[in-house]
Amino acid sequence: MFIQEKPRNTEVFGNYDVCVCGAGPAGVAAALSAARNGAKCCLLESTGCLGGIWTSGLLAWFLDYKQKGGIMKELLDKLEERDARGRNPSGTYNHAADVEELKLLLEDMCLEAGVDIHLHTRVVAADMDGRIICHAIVENPSGRLAFGAKTFIDCTGNGDFGVQAGNRYDYAERGTGRVQPMSFTGMLTGLHLQDMEPFMRPTDRVAEVSWHEPKIRFRAVMEAGGHSPSYANPTLMPVREDLFLIQTNHEYGFCGFKETDVTKATLEGRRELMKITQALRSQGGVWKNVRLVATPEQIGVREGRRLTGRYMISDDDIRNGASFEDAVCHVNFGVDVHAPSKEEGKGVVQQAWHSKPYDIPMRSMQAADVDNLLMAGRCISGDFLAHSSYRVTGNAVAMGEGAGYFAATGKILPPQIITPAP
Ligand SMILES: Cc1cc2nc3c(=O)[nH]c(=O)nc-3n(C[C@H](O)[C@H](O)[C@H](O)COP(=O)(O)OP(=O)(O)OC[C@H]3O[C@@H](n4cnc5c(N)ncnc54)[C@H](O)[C@@H]3O)c2cc1C
Repeated sequence: MFIQEKPRNTEVFGNYDVCVCGAGPAGVAAALSAARNGAKCCLLESTGCLGGIWTSGLLAWFLDYKQKGGIMKELLDKLEERDARGRNPSGTYNHAADVEELKLLLEDMCLEAGVDIHLHTRVVAADMDGRIICHAIVENPSGRLAFGAKTFIDCTGNGDFGVQAGNRYDYAERGTGRVQPMSFTGMLTGLHLQDMEPFMRPTDRVAEVSWHEPKIRFRAVMEAGGHSPSYANPTLMPVREDLFLIQTNHEYGFCGFKETDVTKATLEGRRELMKITQALRSQGGVWKNVRLVATPEQIGVREGRRLTGRYMISDDDIRNGASFEDAVCHVNFGVDVHAPSKEEGKGVVQQAWHSKPYDIPMRSMQAADVDNLLMAGRCISGDFLAHSSYRVTGNAVAMGEGAGYFAATGKILPPQIITPAP
């Protein structure tokens, strides 16, 4: 059953050169890059903070960032200045960041660059003139408003705005319909870094410490406490001496852009995380004071829509290490498919082959069906396996930086590659 809504007048809030929809790692980088290159830029975000999966998703753990220069390197440098990067037991930096410090840093950087930030602002429709978007229509505490721009960048993760503008998209694995599970993360305290060494893999000891063994030990404690986790390879990520991010949940068979699925997965995930915390605490010893101190506002959605671009990155491209003249990001991270169903083992699916480092071309970030729409982050154009590799946040930032630069200047920003410090 449907109802017909009455036509209404929608106030135009403002007109911009560039309008970025979604302020996750890709969206923040896109807005910074556009604004720093002379564009009048607005950044529209549905939650109450910038950062996406890093902040409202409570998973501030950077991957594929070490060889990235540009905004990714700047972010890490600024986090270090604020003593806001996570550390290994030896004192070296790991892949984590302090979530609250990161929220503030992203806000500071955007404000300094002159980005017009709008929180609690959900993009709900596109006002079109043929293949051109004239306005992004939003709903926020002020009501329903329109934001005009010459160029729009969809950084919503799920490709919400591209679909609203009528662009085609892919979802799931072609042929099989397999989709990676969502995951509900959390933040634990009441533990001490040195005590946790057996249950984690310090990022400065990856050559000596196996990937599996700490996870098996961590899972065994949960199981001894009476709960077998839905993700069989639970991960403990130290942020501070007594503050840890935990990833131990898989929500199978749900769609990340269907509200009833997202709600059900969120309710199940939060419940499981509390059970796991109680199971750990029941084991006493180093676990006796463990508490769940925060859960995310937004469950982690690995796979949403992949908007169809002028080029689609394929599994052949990543297998062969493709390079492109219009490259904006160089990916080092491999294929990473979390088990789409419990029957596939509740862990990570092993592939028969490894990808080689490859490029992301600007064309895969240019919408196929809409002339003034770019996309960056996990909603760009690629197939199931390629997406499982390029989606991590180091790449999302580089893509966003490239998209923002292109929107502001019409030029390609080649991958910003550095040699990481040892
Ligand atoms: C459980 C899980 C674990 C992961 N682990 C890691 C990891 O350890 N390290 C790593 O680097 N990567 C990891 N990834 C991958 C990575 O987090 C994502 O692919 C990455 O977040 C992509 O960045 P993004 O900016 O495209 O999307 P997101 O981070 O999802 O940001 C999208 C933003 O858009 C906003 N938004 C959505 N819809 C609208 C709308 N209609 N209007 C306005 N705003 C909207 C959202 O609120 C959000 O802020 C993980 C992903 C998941 C789900």
